[in-house]
Amino acid sequence: MPELPEAEIAGRQLHRWLSGQPVERVELLDTAAVRRELSTKPSMAAAKGRDLLNGLLGAAPERPVRHGKRLGWPWGDKALLVHLGMSGKFVQRRIDEERPAFARIGWFRGEHVVWFVDQRRFACVVVVDRADLDAGMRDGHGPDALDEALDGPGLKAALKGKRAIKVALMDQAKLAGIGNIQAAEALFKARIDPRTACSALTDRQWDELARVIPIQLQEVIDGEDAGEIVYMTEGGEVDNPFAVYKREGEECPVCATPIATIEQTGRTTYFCPQCQR
Ligand SMILES: [Zn+2]
Repeated sequence: MPELPEAEIAGRQLHRWLSGQPVERVELLDTAAVRRELSTKPSMAAAKGRDLLNGLLGAAPERPVRHGKRLGWPWGDKALLVHLGMSGKFVQRRIDEERPAFARIGWFRGEHVVWFVDQRRFACVVVVDRADLDAGMRDGHGPDALDEALDGPGLKAALKGKRAIKVALMDQAKLAGIGNIQAAEALFKARIDPRTACSALTDRQWDELARVIPIQLQEVIDGEDAGEIVYMTEGGEVDNPFAVYKREGEECPVCATPIATIEQTGRTTYFCPQCQR
């Protein structure tokens, strides 16, 4: 599922594929993909989404900026706020190639089209004024987990409380960009039990967690930057690039203990019961 690394990759792809020249035509295949505000609900569809997207075409798209899992994609004095939801991504195809499954929006230029693809329909774009873009991206969000990485004391202050550290790490209001996968992977790297209450973590553990979070995120970005994003939830044969995520029962890469799972706030947490205690 999309987290900070996938949003970062999406921004780089849009820049590579579309920045600097006007787009000729935009096609909206699912009117609910354009929403009134950032929302996971298709019922929040914007009225006249087609007109809103067409209204951007007078200016060339520019390099997207990212905050947490959100993207801001400037088009002249307008911009698109983008959230990838549970399965959103951008793919580029030639115009004579078959349209990808679950394509929602397509931007056409020359021989190519860039498709906004989303199987689950939690993803969306929102048309905003450029002047409001930065505020829209930060609204309700804490500092970016990579570009504004906190040190140990900063992380401790941001996540303080009785919640389990795994749950607190996924709170976008405290730290933006980490979801179920990267929380599990960062805690594995830091050798911290995901059930530990934030209030019970030692200062050394906070320092270590703060140290590994940006390392973990950057590793995933570097590993995914080559090709097209394929989410493990899409089914089919996808290599699992993660140390513990989706590896229940497999050997821990450090100590060979079988990876275990627990439920935390309705999500499955993967961890090594030997390394993380
Ligand atoms: Zn282990």
